[in-house]
Amino acid sequence: MNKQPRTAVILCTCSGIISEKIDWDAVQAQLAEHPDKPVVTTDELACGAENLEKLAAWLKEHQPERVVVAACSPREHERTFRGLLASAGINPYYLQMINVREQVAWVTADPGEATRKAARLIGAALKRVRHHQPLVERHVPVRTDVAVIGAGPAGIQAALTLARAGRRVTLIEKEPFFGGMPVRFEELFPNLECGPCLLEPGMGELLHGPESEHIELLTLTEVTEVKGSFGNWQLSLRQQPRYVNPELCIGCMVCAAVCPERRENPWNCGGELAAVDGPFVGALPNLPHVDAARCLKLNGQECGACLAECPVEGALDFGDTIRDSVVEAGAIIVATGAEELPVAPPAFAGKDNVFSAYSFERLLAMTGPSGGELVKGDGAAPASLAIVQCAGSFDDAVTYCSGTCCQAALKYAHIAAAKQEGLTVTRLVREQVVAGVNAARLFSHDHSQVVRYGGLGDLTVAETDRGRVIVCGSNGAEVPADMIVLCGPTVPGQGTTQTARLLELGVDDAGFIAPIHALSGSFLSPLKGVYLAGTCRGPGDIREAFASGTAAAGVALSELVEGRDLTVDPQVAVVAAEQCAGCKSCIRVCPYKAISWDDATKTADISDILCRGCGTCVAVCPAGAITAQGFSRAMLRAEIEGVLS
Ligand code: SF4
Ligand code: SF4
Repeated sequence: MNKQPRTAVILCTCSGIISEKIDWDAVQAQLAEHPDKPVVTTDELACGAENLEKLAAWLKEHQPERVVVAACSPREHERTFRGLLASAGINPYYLQMINVREQVAWVTADPGEATRKAARLIGAALKRVRHHQPLVERHVPVRTDVAVIGAGPAGIQAALTLARAGRRVTLIEKEPFFGGMPVRFEELFPNLECGPCLLEPGMGELLHGPESEHIELLTLTEVTEVKGSFGNWQLSLRQQPRYVNPELCIGCMVCAAVCPERRENPWNCGGELAAVDGPFVGALPNLPHVDAARCLKLNGQECGACLAECPVEGALDFGDTIRDSVVEAGAIIVATGAEELPVAPPAFAGKDNVFSAYSFERLLAMTGPSGGELVKGDGAAPASLAIVQCAGSFDDAVTYCSGTCCQAALKYAHIAAAKQEGLTVTRLVREQVVAGVNAARLFSHDHSQVVRYGGLGDLTVAETDRGRVIVCGSNGAEVPADMIVLCGPTVPGQGTTQTARLLELGVDDAGFIAPIHALSGSFLSPLKGVYLAGTCRGPGDIREAFASGTAAAGVALSELVEGRDLTVDPQVAVVAAEQCAGCKSCIRVCPYKAISWDDATKTADISDILCRGCGTCVAVCPAGAITAQGFSRAMLRAEIEGVLS
């Protein structure tokens, strides 16, 4: 670069906050000797509306090609000063801003030192700004509808919040019903409220309320592929056939009553379903579905009992097929949930009347396999119940506490004791976590025996003349245990693992989807336009599910505004295709999944919408093919040389 571009320097006093440390007159005097001969002005409060007008006039008068502003943090006012340049007819990216308030005036005790440091930073900015290129912001239209994956409490809450704001929502659920886990829990801790009663108003609203016209609920559906980026996602969906026409079926379940074929009920942990049946009493939508693997007719045998008895012609539809479709959405909310890790320690394997927390939950429910009766496998009432907490937690496989199992155990103890007078209830605990006012109340009303144990390996099961007991090896305690509940840890649900893989989202050590920041950004994934709700982010209770569903929907609403285009920051990384060596290193390291492989050109391709300009790919590219616009090597080198010279 032979001829140096004309440069203007604006020095802000910040109403004395900066100038009480930095002597701007001295700096001005130094700049008068600078070889670039910049034009310089000092302003009292450069960000003020009136002063900006005056500065715009001053810039128009001097017509500089580059501008350096020495003021406060770019985070606070870089957009303001870019606007100033634009209003003076100068490309906004010809600006270089230096933070002499936070990084000089506030942290340098000696005014002489502060003045020298400020002058040096301005000198470096003058060297850097020569290399700035004119950049142009791109505006792209965004879709404002949202796809929600998972129709548990978090997904339902997100869908309703969006629909109330008039957004179109596609709510995708892999099961034949919606409501997630809690819709199958008769009482929820800490207040022992009825799970279905708590969820049904929202579920009813979603199916039949005014919001229902904005929500398309797709059950038996999974996402098979996701393409696109913020504002313009395309989700490929595969919906399994229900063999029932939801428009015609009246949900009378006559078909289930006459169906001759039986199968295990996977949702009830006991009991049977007909080949055509509803999953459990109260499941919504109130529709049966046909298990194609068990239906005699679908397997070429003579049947049709359901067809013969169904009171509505066409309600059963054996011509139903798999439906593949593509849904377009501006944002995606992942609410795919968690599940209980099944634990089967050798000491308990093959023993009767040993339950997981979930199967015990269903046993206690009126809609469960025993109609809510607390009975053993032989139909007799138990004399004792042993609830083993932390079963499988704090071990090699699951090192963490799920934070909810203690409350679940207290709930089981309470409900079981209420169902059967005289029942001996013992909780075997390693740690007890009952945080929060309501949880503490549940704890204070607990009348069960408490025995400490040291891990599943510490426990054995023995038959004695007093009946079955669990023996704790570490302390010799013998716990009466006609019925045993092993409360396993909460782990990511299958849908969570699958969705993380599809969207290429990172997971934490436990396999839950890792948010962009665990504290300040727990609803945001690193992918712009993909938000997180519920237990896909880690173990949590229903309160947290409702709250996070609302929060994720709120973020989607604030980012996808009707009529507002997406402004794409041009300060992103770009690949010089002719230099790309095709090693794909950049694709592997980009934390924001902004880089894809272009099969046609055999080069890496960076989406300017997804790129956040972090520079990781620039550093890793062995071919030097990637440049961070606004942070090129030439700019950084010039700035460093300027500071050191
Ligand atoms: S398919 Fe027919 S029989 Fe079965 S629930 Fe629907 S209406 Fe009733
Ligand atoms: S790291 Fe560089 S060379 Fe390798 S694929 Fe990415 S742009 Fe191409």
